[in-house]
Amino acid sequence: MIIRGGQVIDAAVGRDEIADVFVADGVIVAGPGRDAFVLDATGLIVCPGLMDLHVHLREPGQSHKETIETGTAAAAAGGFTFVACMPNTQPPLDTPDTVRWVIERAREADHCEVAPVAAITKGRRGHEPTDFAALLSAGATAFSDDGTGVEDDAVMRAAFERASELDVLLIQHCEYKAISAGGVMHHGDVSRRLGLPGLDPRSEEAMIERDIDLCRRTGGRYHVAHISTAKAIDLVRRAKGEGLPVTAEVCTHHLILTDVACANADPNTKMHPPLRPQSDVDACRRGLLDGTIDCIVTDHAPHTAEEKSAGFLKAPAGIVGLETALGVAAMAMIDPPTSPLAKGGPRGVVDWPRLLSWLTTGPARVLKRRPASIEIGAGADLTLIDPHSQWKVDPRQFHSKGRNTPFEGWTLAGRAVGTVRGRQVNRLLPDSPSNPSL
Ligand SMILES: [Zn+2]
Repeated sequence: MIIRGGQVIDAAVGRDEIADVFVADGVIVAGPGRDAFVLDATGLIVCPGLMDLHVHLREPGQSHKETIETGTAAAAAGGFTFVACMPNTQPPLDTPDTVRWVIERAREADHCEVAPVAAITKGRRGHEPTDFAALLSAGATAFSDDGTGVEDDAVMRAAFERASELDVLLIQHCEYKAISAGGVMHHGDVSRRLGLPGLDPRSEEAMIERDIDLCRRTGGRYHVAHISTAKAIDLVRRAKGEGLPVTAEVCTHHLILTDVACANADPNTKMHPPLRPQSDVDACRRGLLDGTIDCIVTDHAPHTAEEKSAGFLKAPAGIVGLETALGVAAMAMIDPPTSPLAKGGPRGVVDWPRLLSWLTTGPARVLKRRPASIEIGAGADLTLIDPHSQWKVDPRQFHSKGRNTPFEGWTLAGRAVGTVRGRQVNRLLPDSPSNPSL
């Protein structure tokens, strides 16, 4: 295959040029073979496959919300060739068998690579540690009790010690339930006006503080999931300044939406951590810009329409994100936001290579994985993006079973048109103007 005339961006080696990319037998090669299939990539970006370190694929056990098949199809549609899936399934990913089961289902679906994150504690109940070594050899990529934080100091300390011994990554959902106390949205003007229980940001910050202390004492690698407050980001900034092995991710929605988006009590604006005030949104953007935050994730969290119709107080938290991530991230970090919900803050400040680094080399570094590369001899792992494509978000067209998005009707610029994994061309938009025949 010849991918002709695209803007080849490879953040790992600082490459940004118009070039042809040749793929033969699933590997990047130096030149075209005979009868090569030509893909006109004029006007498109060709970059290493995008990675998302935080998705919920809902299986085993919650296939009414999403399946590994539909979730990974959504990932490929969004331009991702790699997703790390969280263990809060039913049963949770706390045994080698469940981890292997997820990997096998993902192989069958064959839309993208799936790296299961296994639970830190049995049943994600926060008491008894899981068998890290056995889970690792089953294919676990990191450890987290996501959905809840590990509150018990002794249990978390033991997890850090084992993480340090085995050189594995702990991913913490930072929330002390005693502090968040049933809050359903950020504690502030909007929650007060709606009369809904507010969620104290201290619940996030206090756990990060405790964990950084444990990290300092044990040397275990620590990653803050979905960081969302200015103070939390400052804590990570200082920990990195000390040289501790601490990393952090931010969700696309926390880069653009404030709690003002919750003013109509639309359950599709309910998520954990909640949408925050503008000052926190600005801090998230700045955190990316100064390297405190390593990568952008979706926290793709599908729920059924029925579940989300239960009203703001009762509806489950979370939104889908895989199919809007690229456009929303571009709007937050490249283009001046057009939404009245997204005014202010640093914006219009980065180019596509920088943005893509937070979706390729950034997440790879967090996992200590070699990032995908477009160098000769590398296995093909590519995403093709049309940065100019303007499109309107229509949840009915999602590959995900989840339609729960606050971005319905938004016009986004920038969309993945396909991914290439080895010999497989995963998906190219049929109406992509430069490739009418595909
Ligand atoms: Zn979480």
